[in-house]
Amino acid sequence: MLTDEDVYIVKYNIAVMDTDSLIQKAAEHIVKSKYAVALTGAGISTESGIRDFRGPDGLWTKNPDAERIAYETYHVFERDPAEYWKIRLTTPYLLGDIDKALPNPGHYALSELEQMGIIKSVLTQNIDSLHVKAGSGRVLEYHGSVMKLRCMRCGARFNRDDYDLASLLERDNLPPLCTSCNSPLKSDVVHFNEPIPQDVAASSINEAQKCDLMLICGTSAVVYPFASLPRMARYREYDSGMAAFFDMPSGERNQDVTIIEVNAEPTPLTSSKISDFLIQGKTAEILPKIVEVVKSLVSQV
Ligand code: NAD
Ligand code: ZN
Repeated sequence: MLTDEDVYIVKYNIAVMDTDSLIQKAAEHIVKSKYAVALTGAGISTESGIRDFRGPDGLWTKNPDAERIAYETYHVFERDPAEYWKIRLTTPYLLGDIDKALPNPGHYALSELEQMGIIKSVLTQNIDSLHVKAGSGRVLEYHGSVMKLRCMRCGARFNRDDYDLASLLERDNLPPLCTSCNSPLKSDVVHFNEPIPQDVAASSINEAQKCDLMLICGTSAVVYPFASLPRMARYREYDSGMAAFFDMPSGERNQDVTIIEVNAEPTPLTSSKISDFLIQGKTAEILPKIVEVVKSLVSQV
């Protein structure tokens, strides 16, 4: 008779291997890969002190009202950019003081894999710029960055610190304006109901279709369209999310890609077998261990 643990393993496609063996297996795939990319979510930054949304201690999990308010933010900008900025500059930021956060060993591990020529890009949902701070060179910030402002008309991005936002607020001179086309600037952060900027959306699709290995770290994989990128790598075609929502494969399964998850808990990618296997645990512990094994494998070649 199947035990509860057996049922769990079958349901979530969890390999019956201990964590160290899975780390070894991941490292072997990584070394063999020709074009590896990393996909990251809020989970990789929790060990830098920034809370996630949907993990057990997540902001949404603990405070569903905060989620409802977040859904309004983009509409406020569309209605009244000055009001959007007033709220933003006078209300404590939901995710806390991101500027003070520092990268953790998980971010550094990905940056090291890039320096070794293995990881070609990091596609992140995070807005904290911690991958950039950790030294990763090719970072596609799918949901933008708190460190930048973006023009909603011409798409130009600016460093947030080049604008004295506090002084614009004090002089009642908000919103900040684009120096190219004079339109109101928004934070580069992509809010709910806001389209993904075209440049980063196109580059991310390109990376997902090109990669032969995807290392997915710290994401619940339920926020679309980002969550369709692993499906695109697995089935080599774009799906809007509905097929994935119903766990329906939308094309032929691509066996030439290896998809590895490092996450605290199983996700829909685990249960729908989009990923080959999950290494369950903390990214700041597992990713550096993977790098160590990768280094020893590379040195043996
Ligand atoms: P999510 O909150 O939906 O899921 C995070 C996942 O990571 C969960 O499955 C959780 O169990 C796991 N996790 C938490 N800590 C972990 C750790 N130390 N090691 C391994 N796994 C861990 O996050 P999401 O999928 O990225 O979606 C949230 C959206 O909100 C994103 O689109 C992002 O833009 C935004 N967000 C960003 C930040 C940030 O920039 N740091 C923080 C919160 C939310
Ligand atoms: Zn502009």
